[in-house]
Amino acid sequence: MKKALKALAGRAVFAAGMHRHLLGDRGIIVAFHRVNDQTAGDALTVSCRSFARFCAFFKRHYEVLPLGEMVARIERGESIGGSLAITFDDGYLDNYTVAAPILRHHALPATFFITSQFIGTQTVPCWDADVTPPPRWMSWDQVRALAAQGFTIGGHTRSHANLGEVAGDTARKEIRGGREEIEAELGTAIDLFAYPFGRPDALAEDNRDLVREAGFRCCVSCHGGTVTSRTDPFRLYRVPINDWFADPHQFGLETALSRT
Ligand SMILES: [Zn+2]
Repeated sequence: MKKALKALAGRAVFAAGMHRHLLGDRGIIVAFHRVNDQTAGDALTVSCRSFARFCAFFKRHYEVLPLGEMVARIERGESIGGSLAITFDDGYLDNYTVAAPILRHHALPATFFITSQFIGTQTVPCWDADVTPPPRWMSWDQVRALAAQGFTIGGHTRSHANLGEVAGDTARKEIRGGREEIEAELGTAIDLFAYPFGRPDALAEDNRDLVREAGFRCCVSCHGGTVTSRTDPFRLYRVPINDWFADPHQFGLETALSRT
């Protein structure tokens, strides 16, 4: 189905409130990376206008929960049907300057998974080598400000290691070390984790165990689909969002009809 047609069908489904029925006991965890108009159109960026539309859509049609609350409901075996959690990966500066004010405007909770060794640096990771202008990272003061505004900070390793490739002590230092660095900077504990790259092949099973051993309560991917209260908190799917979605209704329809 063409995107525009899906958006149209999505509008009809949401106008009739049918999405709650289609979702049943499933919830959704969405993943953003960048929100800005300079690199809009690339795979990791959502334009400011599009992000604002998504936020309004989330607020209107879902029970938007902090990810920690969704995980707590899963741990208790309670339904998460119709709920949605908003997350961001890596720690881009526009998360603080652009996304957080829009989230606050809509009174929406969100979790920011940060790569501890990127914060406050000029690091250009391999996937951003050709991006102009080069994306920037938040400072630790800005990460602390997000936490003070009520947002949640989560772990994403120290250096964005591929946990499908590294093992043993190297993996442990990335997972646990990232947690310790964030906690030392924030002065509070963190307990949510997103593994870097987020693909099925980017997390070895031994390393998934290390995430648990490091004291995290969950491990989220950056692929897959929806989640239920029966999903293992260490195998939570997310739906990545970029400008591929022409319209929030297209996203809404696709996730409502998703089989995972
Ligand atoms: Zn990442």
